[in-house]
Amino acid sequence: MPVQPPPMITMEEAVQIVLDHTPAIDAIEVDFRDALGRVLASDVRSDMNMPPFDKSAMDGYAVVGGDVASASGERPALLKVVEEVPAGAVPTKRLGRGQATRIMTGAPIPEGADTVIMVEDTTPEAGGTQVKVLKPTPTGENICLLGEDMKIGQVVLSDGALLRPPEIGVLASVGAARIAVYRQPEVAIIPTGGEIVEAEVVPKLGQIRNSNGPTMCAQILAAGAKVHYLGIAGDTREDLLAKLKSALDRADVVLLSGGVSMGDYDLVKSAWADLGIRVHFERIRIKPGRPLTFGTLGKKLIFGLPGNPLSATLGIELLVRPALRKMQRRTDLHRPTETAVLDEPFEQKPGRKQFVPAMTLRRGGQWHTRWVGHTGSADLLSLARSNSLFVVEADVSRLEAGAEVQVIMLDEWV
Ligand code: AMP
Ligand code: MG
Repeated sequence: MPVQPPPMITMEEAVQIVLDHTPAIDAIEVDFRDALGRVLASDVRSDMNMPPFDKSAMDGYAVVGGDVASASGERPALLKVVEEVPAGAVPTKRLGRGQATRIMTGAPIPEGADTVIMVEDTTPEAGGTQVKVLKPTPTGENICLLGEDMKIGQVVLSDGALLRPPEIGVLASVGAARIAVYRQPEVAIIPTGGEIVEAEVVPKLGQIRNSNGPTMCAQILAAGAKVHYLGIAGDTREDLLAKLKSALDRADVVLLSGGVSMGDYDLVKSAWADLGIRVHFERIRIKPGRPLTFGTLGKKLIFGLPGNPLSATLGIELLVRPALRKMQRRTDLHRPTETAVLDEPFEQKPGRKQFVPAMTLRRGGQWHTRWVGHTGSADLLSLARSNSLFVVEADVSRLEAGAEVQVIMLDEWV
């Protein structure tokens, strides 16, 4: 009797099932310098006012506004320079009418002063003991007021904030050196296949180089997670079980590639059964990448990705990456999509939703997309020539040039 293939579900169903089984990860304390790309797990308050004192926004002279409000080239104001205050120093002299303090950007404003004139609007006189002001400056100009950027006790970053470079700087300025963030998921990676050899090896007849392992590792790093590369598992039950057990010991997510189609050596599924992994689906109605098995063991997620490199890569982008981002409390789980005009006709055999490697560019105020040409689900090079995937629905057999298609943008891999 022929073996019945397992049922196929849609991509939308597959994404939903994966996300429904994706747990939120725990928070840990880290040094803020190591937190780029993490999500904050608690509010952060400022421990000081910013700026902490009234400070000069310019290199110039601190003055009493009334002395310079109507200065001009014809009627310059002449002021006595009483002190010089570089950044980091503190003024010691109170300023009165007819006086000026030479001041640098970032230095505290002396008492009595309420205005800073830019050095460009002045000329020094009498060896720098006096200054001539040649342009009017409105009172209050060029001073950053105490607390105008942030107030002491104010929440400057909230629980759930994504830490990008500006947020790292904010953490530094409020002295939040140790912060709570959601941990990076630990992801174990196991390519399988008796024919697979590593990149350094020249393949013998029948062998092929392991492109999936390194691609998967790179995708997982780009998704903000940590990689444990466990090496190639041969197509033996013992090898597979040993690697899978060690993966489940250390990882939140386990990725295997290969061995999930209907071949005689496809032992992945029986190894899963031995370990008590619960299988949620085995096939998705998509092209490429139909044989894709998803299972869980407690809170751990296990993905059996197809062996074909294009299929494996897309499976990670479309299913694994959203799960890893959800774990880390990212809210933007999916790649951005655009509506684009198809530049050339495209045909397919209907039945499965197809993700087509494409180059999508903005032209004349519109997105335009075209197939880059690929030979099949092994053609990883086609993705290297692409910046996107256009989507062809399962029931469509032909799209004409000019048709509107949805495009998944893949330009931000790193
Ligand atoms: P499988 O799913 O194991 O039947 O593999 C499907 C196809 O993908 C076969 O042609 C394999 O040789 C190829 N393949 C499997 N694993 C890898 C890998 N790690 N790197 C490159 N190609 C692979
Ligand atoms: Mg195989």
